[in-house]
This record gives sequence, C-alpha cells and structure tokens, in this order.
Amino acid sequence: RQRGRATPVAFSAIIGQAARDALAIEQGLREALRNPGELSIAYQPIVGRTGRLERAEALARWTSPRLGSVPPGRFIAVAEQAGLIVELGRRLFHLVCDDLAAHPALRVSLNVSTLQLMAPDFIPSLVDELRARGIPPARIEIELTEAVVVDDPRLAAQRVEELREAGFSIALDDFGTGYSSVGYLEQFRFDTLKIDRSFVARVHRSAGGMAVVDGMIRMAHGLDLRVVCEGIESARDLDLLRELGSDLAQGYHLDQPLPIDELVSRWLDPEPG
Ligand code: C2E
Ligand code: CA
Ligand code: CA
Ligand code: CA
Repeated sequence: RQRGRATPVAFSAIIGQAARDALAIEQGLREALRNPGELSIAYQPIVGRTGRLERAEALARWTSPRLGSVPPGRFIAVAEQAGLIVELGRRLFHLVCDDLAAHPALRVSLNVSTLQLMAPDFIPSLVDELRARGIPPARIEIELTEAVVVDDPRLAAQRVEELREAGFSIALDDFGTGYSSVGYLEQFRFDTLKIDRSFVARVHRSAGGMAVVDGMIRMAHGLDLRVVCEGIESARDLDLLRELGSDLAQGYHLDQPLPIDELVSRWLDPEPG
C-alpha cells in the first residue's frame, strides 16, 4: 500500500495499538482538512497582575465525526509525523485571523511547532494573510518550545529574528521541560518566558520547588523577559507566584480555554458592574 511521505508504518498482524490509533488519526485529519467545521480554536486567558486580560492563547480543537474529540497533544504530533502540520497550521491560523479581524481588542498567543517554523514559506504566509486582512502582527505572540531551539539553533535564531522583524513578539513555551541549556536564553531574543506547569505545580510542595521557580523568575527578569506562569490551578498558587514576581498568569484557576464568544463576553468586553 502507498503510504504518506513521513510515516513508514508496517502493516502486519502485530501492528501496535498506538500505530493503529495514529493511522486512524492521520486519516481523520486528512478528512478534517477537507471538512471545514471539524477544527476550531479555544482561547485561554492570560491575565496580568491586576486581573485584566493581556491576551489569550489559541489552542487547537478537533472533533472528528468518527473519533470524537481528539486532544491536540495527540493530533498535533500525528500531524507532524504525517507531514500534515504545515497545512493544519495554516487552517488554524486562518481561524485565528477570523477572530482577530472580528475583535480588534483581542491579542493572541499562537503555538508554532519546529516543522512549521522551519518550513521556508511559513513566515511569509503568516505575514501575507495578516496584511491581506489588515491585522498588525504585533497582536500576535508566537510560542516556541525548547525543542525548536535545540534542533537547529542557528536556523531557529534566524527565524526568531525574522519573526521579530515582521513585528511578532516571541515566547519560549514550557520552559524547564526540554533539554536546552539556559545559555540559549541569552542568544535568542525572546520577549516572554512561560514557566511550565510542572514547576508551578511543585511551588507549594517543597521549599526546593519554590526556590526553583523563584530562580527562574529572577533570571527571566534579569534578561528583560516577561514571565507567564502556566497551569495555575488554585488561588494559593496564584498568590505565591505573584509574590515571586510572575508578570502574567494562565491556568484553570483563572479560566479554562473558551470558545471565542465566551472569551469576548467574559474577558474582552465584560458587562459593566
Ligand atoms: P501548551 O502550549 O503547553 O498549552 C497549554 C495546555 O495546558 C493546554 O492543553 C491547556 O488546556 C492546558 N492547561 C491550561 N491550564 C491548565 C491547568 O490549570 N492545569 C492543567 N493541568 N492544564 C492546563 P491543550 O489545549 O490540550 O494543548 C496541549 C498542547 O498541544 C499545547 O500545550 C501545545 O503544545 C499543543 N497545541 C495546542 N494547540 C496547538 C496549535 O494550534 N499548534 C501547535 N503547534 N500546537 C498546539
Ligand atoms: Ca503554548
Ligand atoms: Ca505551555
Ligand atoms: Ca506545558
């Protein structure tokens, strides 16, 4: 059987469940790319120290007629392996642009994976779509993970500069979970550091947990980066992280990822009183 480019899957009786699932997801994704309506965006508020919305992280959502709702942690990885991530990313960006165009006060964070960033026409295609719709790139922060930095640091640094020149701001996502050395922080011009929720979760568990987050925040501020703590699930964590100097907060305690209309009514133009 002919298979998609990047996934040589062995069709044998002993093919594993995980591979079968990946194949079902890949086939479902190909259908989703032909079927507008299966894909959507949920927006999770990122909130400043005074409790106001700073921007919202755009998170991909996919409900397949056959597979039901598939989490992005799963289908993004399959899309990358199957060579579908660039096309998928384009569709998702189109949806985000619809919302940016409809809500001029909205600013978003956009997740971009390594393969997307490295695709030669990725940045021009973003810029073209924004220009065509009259949306300033400054309304978008691009979130890159440490994996992006580690894979090909020189090309990644070049891409980061191109994004900055185009007017985007840049965040380093999931900080602390990867294998990057903190030395990269000095070489890349990021605007924002997002401390991964695994550290946030430990902040109250031990003196060491708190010391680690405290150190991360001080280091980020020393490098002129703004800090987002993600995965904040309680008022207690929020209070402590703000005390430690975290600039921005994100997590279920503040709000979950929301459909655009709910984001707008709850956070963008809340009813007076
Ligand atoms: P991420 O970029 O780290 O996004 C944050 C994830 O944490 C989201 O999961 C969000 O729903 C979840 N989260 C938020 N607050 C809390 C909390 O208080 N507690 C806990 N336990 N979790 C919280 P989600 O939406 O399932 O996304 C998973 C990952 O999929 C994202 O992790 C991101 O890496 C990737 N992803 C999502 N959308 C896109 C996309 O459009 N493009 C790309 N390339 N990746 C995406
Ligand atoms: Ca993210
Ligand atoms: Ca993250
Ligand atoms: Ca994370």
